[in-house]
Amino acid sequence: MKSPNKALEEPRVYPFSEHQIDEELIDPDALYVVGRLREAGYSAYIVGGSVRDLLLKKTPKDFDISTAAKPEDIKRLFGRSCLLIGRRFRLAHIRFGHKVIEVSTFRSGENEGDLIVQDNKWGSEVEDVLRRDFTINGLFYDPQKKEVIDYVGGWEDIHANLLKTIGDPVVRFRQDPVRMIRLLKFQARLKFEVHTQSKAALNKCLDEIIKSAPARILEEIFRMLESGSSTQFFKLMAESGLLELLFPSLTHFLNGPHGSDVLHFLEKADQFNKKDLKRPLDRAVLSSCLIFPILEREIGTQFLSKNYSPHIGEIMHLTDVLIDAVVISSFSHFPRRMSATVAFILSTQYRMTPFSGKRHHRPKLMQNKEFTLAMQFFRLRSQVNPQLDEAYCSWRNAYHQMEQAGEHRHHAAHPHPRRQHSHGPRHADAAK
Ligand code: ATP
Ligand code: MG
Repeated sequence: MKSPNKALEEPRVYPFSEHQIDEELIDPDALYVVGRLREAGYSAYIVGGSVRDLLLKKTPKDFDISTAAKPEDIKRLFGRSCLLIGRRFRLAHIRFGHKVIEVSTFRSGENEGDLIVQDNKWGSEVEDVLRRDFTINGLFYDPQKKEVIDYVGGWEDIHANLLKTIGDPVVRFRQDPVRMIRLLKFQARLKFEVHTQSKAALNKCLDEIIKSAPARILEEIFRMLESGSSTQFFKLMAESGLLELLFPSLTHFLNGPHGSDVLHFLEKADQFNKKDLKRPLDRAVLSSCLIFPILEREIGTQFLSKNYSPHIGEIMHLTDVLIDAVVISSFSHFPRRMSATVAFILSTQYRMTPFSGKRHHRPKLMQNKEFTLAMQFFRLRSQVNPQLDEAYCSWRNAYHQMEQAGEHRHHAAHPHPRRQHSHGPRHADAAK
């Protein structure tokens, strides 16, 4: 196999005195998994984004582990808490309550120029580093010796705030065009410079993005919406030309006179998500940030400018048309349940703030299990437009009263409550 990448002859090894990684930031369950694999005789390291974040003194969102153990070996070691997943990329998920630690077997790289469709060729430690995307994501951490191991110059690039692909960027972007989105993701999130060659390769390979599986692209975009840096990410996606290829209708709106409306919503969502990156706003609320400003402008031009207050049915129809145009036309497999939730969130905004007539706190509407999400979005709207603050507070108070009354009834009916299973939306407190 001809590898497009080159490793350093010998890895550079950085001891604790140089990296000073704060052990407190390392998940004890990740340490347990590495320890268990090593006891069984397999080499194992903490890898990728988690090492990068530890060196940047940030708490990693999740911990990834790479090991010489094969998926079946991992399954044997961890038994029922281990689930083997994925076809393109076979992985072990080890569960600790609700948390999952991802363990992957060392893999070898890709043939030069191929678009990778299968990624299960086992390899050595160094091969596993070379198949990774950016030098800053190519570091290993040995928690027992407390050493950072660097085959690709990632240590220097992290300290120089530099984003550089491992190997020839044109080859690496062609092999997996999602890496171009990931480049902009790290640029937005870490505020790093992009190395000249990687920047040139992005321009050159842009069109390749449509060859990637839409599900993977969508997942990276959702993760960015949750990241607290989505405003900058969408700006970079638009500047690079990637957004135009993926979301033409949204790009058209962003380039128009009211494009900044979308950015204002993303800014408020970022402010919320930054407070606790482990508990971001729901993906349906975040998707609504991309569509609501377009809906508002369309209602203005199609109805209000003609002195006509649209009926809620007309708003619901327009909402469906826009969800189709902005997301479903690009991502046909956009989850149906999520698009239904986005439609509910958007149309409910006009029930809470109708164009004419009095606002009524409709108990039936508030009992909808997705109402909390509509309230979270209403909260963002009131932050973007403080004139809505009073209306928002009035709905919020009515909602709290209804919740309290509901709890009261529930306690009266069940003096000894049993354990509850919540099927409601995540992060119910985000609207408070
Ligand atoms: P985040 O903080 O968003 O989780 P991350 O770098 O950890 O960022 P993951 O998607 O969790 O990103 O991937 C874990 C690691 O797997 C990366 O750090 C990188 O080494 C490798 N990786 C992920 N996606 C790719 C890809 N498309 N091509 C090559 N390597 C990848
Ligand atoms: Mg990660």
